[in-house]
Amino acid sequence: MTWIGIDLGGTKVYGVVHHADKIKTDAKRKTPTEGGPDAVVATIAGVIDDLGGIDGIKGVGVGAPGPVDHAAGVVGQAPNLAGGLRDFALGPLLSKALGGLPVYVDNDANVGTLAEHKRGAGKGAVDLLGVWVGTGVGGGLIFDGHLRRGRTGYAGEIGHIVAVPHGRLCGCGHEGHVEAYAGRASMEREARARAAAGRTNRLVELAGEGRMTSSVWAKALEARDPVAVELIDSAVSALGTAVADAVTLLDLDTVVVGGGLTDRFGPTFVGRIEQATRDQMFNQSSPTRVVPASLGDQSGAIGAALMAAESASST
Ligand SMILES: [Zn+2]
Repeated sequence: MTWIGIDLGGTKVYGVVHHADKIKTDAKRKTPTEGGPDAVVATIAGVIDDLGGIDGIKGVGVGAPGPVDHAAGVVGQAPNLAGGLRDFALGPLLSKALGGLPVYVDNDANVGTLAEHKRGAGKGAVDLLGVWVGTGVGGGLIFDGHLRRGRTGYAGEIGHIVAVPHGRLCGCGHEGHVEAYAGRASMEREARARAAAGRTNRLVELAGEGRMTSSVWAKALEARDPVAVELIDSAVSALGTAVADAVTLLDLDTVVVGGGLTDRFGPTFVGRIEQATRDQMFNQSSPTRVVPASLGDQSGAIGAALMAAESASST
């Protein structure tokens, strides 16, 4: 059976046609920065047109940023989409635009985790945590071989576990969460705050007013910029603490770490997280693996297609 998977990101909408565990074709368009729900739906429909339309397609899966009510197909909050959306009925609206074709929506970290579990670095795992380090820090949980969403859809949200009591302010409003130390947006804010307080650093020099891209981070680290090194050390420490807590709580066999920053820093970054995890795990002889994600940029779209197929067969 053929499914379409869509990765709805803050900057681009990337889609694939997925058939018999293979990507047949792919397409992408820019995510609209304004125009509200209609603009987002129209852009996704456009990508589906670019993919060849819906002839022979069984259904569409979408991985979306922010909390998602999977059963209703509603995205709770998406501050980065089309000027900011709340209670966005993406599933029903897209289905209507596609003439009633079934559409399933889930959180982007959940679908990425599903993809890594079924096809990527987490293949064969029974209890797995996916950790996605990008602008924010997302997470997905596979428990007993199945994606565990939890009662409110927030299961696996490792980015919003406390890593440092009363620590740095998180984007969600709480203090000391993992995302406040390991999410790129927070790390960027911290680098600028330190520069403003007199600790000039390569990150701010290289980025200027613009975004601190992965290559800015790579260059600053290469130059052993002290602020960049400290910020990465804190990110590793926060992630290691939270992952060790999760491993101990759930006796996980596999942790897959992926996302924008890890893609750039690869095995060293993930290796350091693994070491920090091991140092703090209760069961020191646990065979738990902490491994880099292996599907790269396509994990979201592949996972969205897999999620749609699973959701269809379970209803
Ligand atoms: Zn938070």
